[in-house]
Amino acid sequence: IVRLRVANHIELKRQRDFLLSLSQLDGMTGIANRRAFDTSLERLWHVHARQRLPLSLALIDVDHFKLFNDTYGHIAGDDCLKEIASTLAESLPRSQDMAARYGGEEFAVLMPDTHKAGALGVTKRLLERVRGRQIPHSQSPSGAHVSVSVGVASCVPASDGDPLDLVRCADGALYQSKDNGRDMITTLEMN
Ligand code: GH3
Ligand code: MG
Ligand code: MG
Repeated sequence: IVRLRVANHIELKRQRDFLLSLSQLDGMTGIANRRAFDTSLERLWHVHARQRLPLSLALIDVDHFKLFNDTYGHIAGDDCLKEIASTLAESLPRSQDMAARYGGEEFAVLMPDTHKAGALGVTKRLLERVRGRQIPHSQSPSGAHVSVSVGVASCVPASDGDPLDLVRCADGALYQSKDNGRDMITTLEMN
């Protein structure tokens, strides 16, 4: 009976761990989902505020993606997002860096202990890797292949500050990249 109970507990723990990992992954792309991103941002914000370390966030939006769906169909659109997600996840230099699907065709990359110059280096590599996949986008006004625009925000978090300010700042930087022609990175420092 003791042996059966132990086996039962181990099986329950295995199932619980499995469900927990599923709840943190995006079903389509297999990378971290929005829930996991929100949790990590909140946690990292406070750790970095306490240790006075720089934290960087990149928001990455696929250029002219509605046009991609209109040209190749939504199944091809999904495949394109899967390819971009794996490209981002595989191109991060440190194991602590986190790539997540933020929403539809938007991704987020959290870079702990990374200042603005470091984040620019990381995102340059991401941009080049996406370009390097050479996913055809025949109707794109930005070029013959799929590209992304990036907004980067960096700061040393204030302990009484709001983690969402970092997202707002990265979003502002992303819109500058869109306004200035897409397929580019804009970096902003929050403080
Ligand atoms: P911009 O360069 O300004 O970002 O233009 P855009 O067309 O990429 O931006 P817009 O916000 O107009 O359109 C985003 C498109 O992304 C529309 C939506 O149908 C598509 N999309 C969002 N999520 C998914 C998804 O999971 N699969 C597919 N196939 N398409 C998606
Ligand atoms: Mg978008
Ligand atoms: Mg877009």
